[in-house]
Amino acid sequence: MEQSGTAKIFCVANQKGGVGKTTTTVNLAAGLAKIGQRVLMVDLDPQGNATMGSGVDKRAMELSVYDVLLESSTVAEAVVKADKCGYDVLGANRELAGAEIELVGLERRDQRLKTALAEVASQYDFILIDCPPSLSMLTLNGLCCAHGVIVPMQCEYFALEGLTDLVNTIKQVHANLNRDLQIIGLLRVMFDPRITLQMQVSDQLKAHFGDKVFDSVIPRNVRLAEAPSYGLPGVVFDPNAKGSQAFLAFASEMVQRIKTM
Ligand code: ADP
Ligand code: MG
Repeated sequence: MEQSGTAKIFCVANQKGGVGKTTTTVNLAAGLAKIGQRVLMVDLDPQGNATMGSGVDKRAMELSVYDVLLESSTVAEAVVKADKCGYDVLGANRELAGAEIELVGLERRDQRLKTALAEVASQYDFILIDCPPSLSMLTLNGLCCAHGVIVPMQCEYFALEGLTDLVNTIKQVHANLNRDLQIIGLLRVMFDPRITLQMQVSDQLKAHFGDKVFDSVIPRNVRLAEAPSYGLPGVVFDPNAKGSQAFLAFASEMVQRIKTM
């Protein structure tokens, strides 16, 4: 059993690019912060979009998640505060792309993040990890330390098919590396209820995955897409926008979900 007062750790993962992982991570982080949760956001994508989208300049960072994975820094040393967003950031930049290769042959190479985060877990309620669009060693590091995976997905024709690889990977990690890991939920994003196909796929998702589909639905909303260029999550940039309201509802849903975990 885990000690109470220890952060619940969630990966936001989907091996497809452009499906809304980063948007989900930063907006959920900001939404949770708004309702009083202590949040650390970890960027595991060398593109550093979640870092920049939290107002942290990825090029100016002295220490990043790369240094943490290679054990040349602790999390506490590398974390920066995203003041306007209300949460802490363990950022990423292009350096992280090299970690994949540098980790090969090292001991416990899939457990590095887990070990590092254990030292700060008591300081947070939630740790959210933005994963890269692959099932790589970086994503594996995320999956090895997480209690749950949040899977953002668009309700498109191949949506279910694309889930198979991710679901299989999660099953394997669960069986071999991390008994805590589960899919906490599928989050429908960029949703447009006027599109019949999207409604159909959404119904299919619910039929297949039942309770694993979050009640919250994130609509397609241009304010969410504009926010990153201001270095802010939509929830902070324009709290009244429809998309922001949806993420705030999702944050509340997550707080409820972890009570039953
Ligand atoms: P990923 O991290 O999976 O690659 P992103 O979160 O970066 O995906 O989203 C891909 C693109 O879609 C970005 O330009 C983002 O601003 C945009 N986007 C994401 N969610 C929404 C939404 N709900 N409404 C409108 N645009 C969105
Ligand atoms: Mg991304």
